[in-house]
Amino acid sequence: MNRLEGKVVIVTGGARGQGAAHARRIVEEGGSVVVTDVLVDDGEASVKALGGTERAVFVRHDVSDRSQWAAVVATAVSQFGGVDVLVNNAGIHHITLIEDETLDGLRQLVDVNLVGVFLGIQAVIEPMRQRGGGSIVNISSLAGLEGFWGHGAYGATKWAVRGLSKTAAIELGPSGIRVNSIHPGVIDTAMLPPGAGAAAATIPLQRIGAPADVAELVVYLASDESSFVSGAEIAIDGGSGAGPFNPMRSAGGK
Ligand code: NAD
Repeated sequence: MNRLEGKVVIVTGGARGQGAAHARRIVEEGGSVVVTDVLVDDGEASVKALGGTERAVFVRHDVSDRSQWAAVVATAVSQFGGVDVLVNNAGIHHITLIEDETLDGLRQLVDVNLVGVFLGIQAVIEPMRQRGGGSIVNISSLAGLEGFWGHGAYGATKWAVRGLSKTAAIELGPSGIRVNSIHPGVIDTAMLPPGAGAAAATIPLQRIGAPADVAELVVYLASDESSFVSGAEIAIDGGSGAGPFNPMRSAGGK
């Protein structure tokens, strides 16, 4: 408890799924949270579900729109006194073969998953400097560490987030701002295509992840416990990224 006491955190895409789990854990650990999303009803419900705390507020926000970032930062400053942590969690996903991808489809993914993260980093640099530093947590994907069938456009945005995080860690380190990327494997949210639960059999830990699993890592990276961790890429995937699992197993392993 209280690992985030006094910290002001912005969580994008916090109306549901992983972002809502992050907001819950941040409040439980004593932090204040600005939850943002394009989904207004779900976003307000997500904040309400935190139990009527004064340490959580919802702002309608499209991460791909620069002007809306200014309003989010202004809310964090006016309601809670500043910005210490940004969790760039908002994202969209679709599975399409490269040969079938449209330019519009590619641009939508780039706008939210990459431009949104880029604008978020830019928006919090000065407010974080005013607090003497901060932590930026960028949600990439296992698809930002490996290639995946049907994930040409999505994977490209998540690899970009990984690279952007490293450059930001180098540029912002002298300002006391840490930047890390998280690479979830299969996590049980509305983003998954139907039947994705079957992926459990291909995961060494034999289950898909829960939003709460990722929230624990977010709390760690947001807190001072990770004060010397920057530029890191952390997979949270039940061992999926460790190497091939099923081929050897079906060849006779136990
Ligand atoms: P989700 O669809 O439940 O949540 C994503 C949220 O982002 C939604 O609430 C959505 O409304 C919001 N969003 C979409 N476009 C937005 C925009 N322009 N501005 C603001 N908010 C916007 O899915 P999730 O699994 O919770 O996804 C969270 C993050 O985790 C995403 O970045 C996703 O790419 C990443 N991720 C998910 C998985 C998985 O298996 N679920 C795996 C790896 C990475």
